[in-house]
This record gives sequence, structure tokens and C-alpha cells, in this order.
Amino acid sequence: MIYVEEEILSHPRTLQVCERFPDAEVVPCARAGEVFLRKGQSFRLQKRSPSLILAKKQRGFLTEAPAGFGFPGARNLILSHMQNCIYDCRYCFLQGMHRSAHYVLFVNYEDFLWAMEERIRSAAAGEVLWFFSGYDCDSLALEPVTRFAAGFVPFFGRFPQAFLELRTKSTQIKSLLEMEALPNVIVAFSFTPEEVQRSLEHLTPPVDRRLRAMAKLQERGWKLGLRFDPVIYCEGYRGQYRRLFAQVFETLQSDGLHSVSLGPLRLASGIFHSMERLFPEEPLLAGPLEEIEGTVGYGRELEEEIQAFCVEELLRHIPRELFVPSLSALPSPPAPPSGDG
Ligand code: SF4
Repeated sequence: MIYVEEEILSHPRTLQVCERFPDAEVVPCARAGEVFLRKGQSFRLQKRSPSLILAKKQRGFLTEAPAGFGFPGARNLILSHMQNCIYDCRYCFLQGMHRSAHYVLFVNYEDFLWAMEERIRSAAAGEVLWFFSGYDCDSLALEPVTRFAAGFVPFFGRFPQAFLELRTKSTQIKSLLEMEALPNVIVAFSFTPEEVQRSLEHLTPPVDRRLRAMAKLQERGWKLGLRFDPVIYCEGYRGQYRRLFAQVFETLQSDGLHSVSLGPLRLASGIFHSMERLFPEEPLLAGPLEEIEGTVGYGRELEEEIQAFCVEELLRHIPRELFVPSLSALPSPPAPPSGDG
């Protein structure tokens, strides 16, 4: 079933998406929120069979990244063309933030691009703009349906002074391989060690497949980012991360990398408690976590220990200037956004 807002029933992207699912029933709705924000929904149950909701983003095409997130000295903006994700990572804040596991895709890319162009044209002298995608969805996982990268990446060819980060765990890189690499577009892959990927990152491509996708992109000249985010603690985490870093840097050329970052596990308290209610049996959520000033994480001491170990290990493989500590240090947002923008 595909829900479509009446206003965009004949939008070319709506037609293009619906064409891919010829057997799906198309159900018109006035606003995506009627479906997405409906009371009595269970994220966990709905995740077994989510529907697609096609909507028009009305406002708020770009949001300022919270302080501490993004590249130092730059203006960091979040670009959300979609809400929810086809993957199912047990640490993901989306499962505690939304009642619904349906995917909302905002089809009016032209309005996003217009807002981006306006923002770039009105930038102050010397202001460096970074646009981050993959904050409340995976940037590439649904690329064959959304054509998000195909629609947004070429824009950055016109504006070489602005930058885009596509954050992903996906191997859906065909759109990128069909384009010329752009020096101001970074494809940033997130990783946890294989053991963590198998137990917590349900439905995601395994580490070695992500690495093969990265190697192909690197061969074609794309600049790559590595986001070890969130870093997950367990008794054997040192060995797991040591092996992961060795595997990653055996496959990739570090001189073709744009940046490498680590992200601590941090969740807004309300979201964490919703996740606990959804998955009471999940060991990750019963781990050595502490709640401090509205954020749940591993606690300062353990977080510093993990960070210090991982930084030291990473610096065996990469030059220090590639490491960007603040890129991922972002707790999940405290309040859910509305489903209809
Ligand atoms: S890939 Fe990212 S957005 Fe998707 S479920 Fe995992 S953490 Fe969440």
C-alpha cells in the first residue's frame, strides 16, 4: 500500500515511485500526518511491514545542525528528504522517536533544491556550507526508489563552494557510479564491528560488502568518509574495533579519504525510554548506560576510555588531520518532528 498526499498525486516523482510498485494500492490522504501520526501504532509491529507515504514537505527544508555536530568552522545544515529507514538498527533513535515505522518520502525535491540554492547564494563571505543527509533515514538505502542521490548530487556540480555528506550503510551506489565524482560530495559510510553489525544492525549490508562498495567508489574518484558511529561497548570491544580498523584500512586507500570520525552512543532520555519499552529484552539497552542531564550514554569515564582507545588505534592507520572528532557527537533529538513537514 502506498499512501499519497492528494496535493502531489500527479507529481512526476510520485508517478515514478508508484510505477515501481504496479501492484500496490495507492491510497490518497490529505496529509501524511493522518497516517504517520495516527494513535495506537506500534513501531515494532509496523516495522515488519511498513508502508510508503509520499508527501510534500511544506517548510523547514533545511535545519541547523545542533551545536557540536558537523565540521568545525563551517555552517552545518541537515537535509531530510525522508523519515524512517529500511534498516533496523537497535541503537537507532528513530525507533524511539516515531510511533510509526512507515517511510515518509518528501517528493518535492525541487523545493529542497531551491531552498539550498537560496541558502548558498545568501551565504556570508567566507561562510562554508555543509549539507548533511542521512540524519533521519539512510541516504542511499532506498535509492532505486527515491533517486535521491541522482536528484541532489548534480546540484553540487553547480555550487562547488558548498558541500554534501551522504551518510549511509548501503551498497546502493549505482547512481553514484553513473555520475562523475564531485570533489565537494562525500559519501560517508557508517561502521560497527562485524559482531555488532550481525547482532544490532538488522537488515544492513555486512561490513565486507560496504567496504567493497566503498572501494568501487574510491576507484571512481569519489571522496569517502568513515563514521564509526555509534561506537558500541562490550567486553571484547577492543579486539573487535582493532580488527574492524585493520579490515577497513586494508581495503581502502587512506589518501582517498576525506575524513574519519567516531561517535559515542548518545540518546535523548525520552527516546531511550521509548526504545526500552519497545525492546525490553535488548541487552544493548540494559548495558552499562548512565542518564546525565537528559542524555543516556556510556557515562563519562567509559566513554572517554572507549574514545581514547579508538582514537589511538585509528591513528595507527590514518594521518591525524583526517580525524574529525566532533562530526558525530550528536545526541538524538529530543522531540519528534511532525509527519507532514
Ligand atoms: S541505518 Fe541509520 S537511520 Fe537506518 S536504522 Fe540504522 S541507524 Fe537508523
